[in-house]
Amino acid sequence: MKVVIVGAGIGGLTAALSLQRVGIRDVTCLEAAAEIRPLGVGINLLPHAVRELSELGLLDELDALAVRTADLTYVNEFGQTIWSEPRGIDAGYHWPQFSIHRGEFQMMLTRVVRDRLGEDAIVTDSRVSNVETKGNTVCVTTNTDIYTADIVIAADGIHSAVRAMWHPHEGAPIWNGAVLWRGTSRVKPFLSGRSMFMAGHRQTKFVAYPLKRIDADGLQLVNWIAEHVDPTLNDVQTNWNRSVEIDRFLPLFDSWKFDWLEVPTLIKAAEKVFEYPMSDRNPLDSWIRGRVVLLGDAAHPTYPIGSNGSSQAIIDARVLAHALATRPIDEALLWYQSERLPKTRAIQLANREMGPEIVMQLAHERAPQGFESIEDVIPLAERTEIAARYKSIAGFDPAILNSRPSWDASYSDLG
Ligand SMILES: Cc1cc2nc3c(=O)[nH]c(=O)nc-3n(C[C@H](O)[C@H](O)[C@H](O)COP(=O)(O)OP(=O)(O)OC[C@H]3O[C@@H](n4cnc5c(N)ncnc54)[C@H](O)[C@@H]3O)c2cc1C
Repeated sequence: MKVVIVGAGIGGLTAALSLQRVGIRDVTCLEAAAEIRPLGVGINLLPHAVRELSELGLLDELDALAVRTADLTYVNEFGQTIWSEPRGIDAGYHWPQFSIHRGEFQMMLTRVVRDRLGEDAIVTDSRVSNVETKGNTVCVTTNTDIYTADIVIAADGIHSAVRAMWHPHEGAPIWNGAVLWRGTSRVKPFLSGRSMFMAGHRQTKFVAYPLKRIDADGLQLVNWIAEHVDPTLNDVQTNWNRSVEIDRFLPLFDSWKFDWLEVPTLIKAAEKVFEYPMSDRNPLDSWIRGRVVLLGDAAHPTYPIGSNGSSQAIIDARVLAHALATRPIDEALLWYQSERLPKTRAIQLANREMGPEIVMQLAHERAPQGFESIEDVIPLAERTEIAARYKSIAGFDPAILNSRPSWDASYSDLG
């Protein structure tokens, strides 16, 4: 079976490794960028995605690059704890949660794809402009070449050209009025040194987590995201990932000084800050046209809430490879879609309602000036239910994840 993958992002590269794992080796990844560079800052890989990466033999590589996240804490803007929970192995999962530099992760995947599938498995400077199924063959046109394949996986991200071909009137991603400023700073460790925290509420929020172990000088590289809803900053929509000055948002966080971390100090220590709109797209009813199928952000772009963007792309990749290994092609595509589309749709919709972070908004609405005891504001049963519900929606309920069968399979040509 010949497979062409559009896009060598985290979704496309994991799809290539997943296909190789089940025994489908004739795989070509077409990437628009002239070279794959370590872009972006931090992301979290949740245990359900780490399980898949681990079954692809990448656990040691991840451990070498990333921090095993130990706990997650939500606080209000005064630093008072709303909810705290262990994460990864510390939470009873069989697999860790990793905080990792997105670009370094993508570079590692690139190297492993080339090691396992050959140098030619990734073709850069190759922008796909047309994809067309003719009978049982798909014809892919790029700026430099024409390829044919039995199936094409479109993993070309939130600005997917393939999706735009199918939905020419969909337009740009939908912006919700919030702007994200993202950076990394070397600072003293906070909380456990492997902690992720989120502070604030829907209007103004701050998230941080370490990306590297503590250095010899006692400092640690921390990824952070400042977020604020301001629809007047609408030039952000056409300037994804531009570098900006901290003055644009620092005053919003002037008073956010907690016993264990001062947010303004963290922001001021950043070398560069990138601006990004909080955007997603509406869920689709179908991800398949002929023998072309969407995967990752091309299929289900979601707000970066609940740390799920990359994780869901990785799970898509493994489920699709399993389907192609165990079913005839057309049936496999439909089965993959039926397995993944309803789940990712539920995540897209849950993230529009703040996902698990809704506890922060509830605390703000019920106790805007802070509280003596969180129990008087949001009882434990309500907080527990919010955290458990999101894990169930997003597929990382620990008991279910630990006990479900693997997506490993062996390919035999079923036509
Ligand atoms: C620079 C960057 C920074 C990010 N930072 C974060 C973050 O901090 N936190 C977070 O949760 N998520 C972040 N994301 C999103 C996250 O990486 C994705 O949700 C997730 O990894 C899904 O990946 P994907 O492979 O589906 O899409 P993407 O990671 O967007 O990859 C798509 C790939 O397709 C390529 N491509 C696009 N069009 C074409 C075409 N026509 N032909 C060929 N190739 C094409 C792109 O160059 C890209 O390499 C970021 C994405 C990017 C691109």
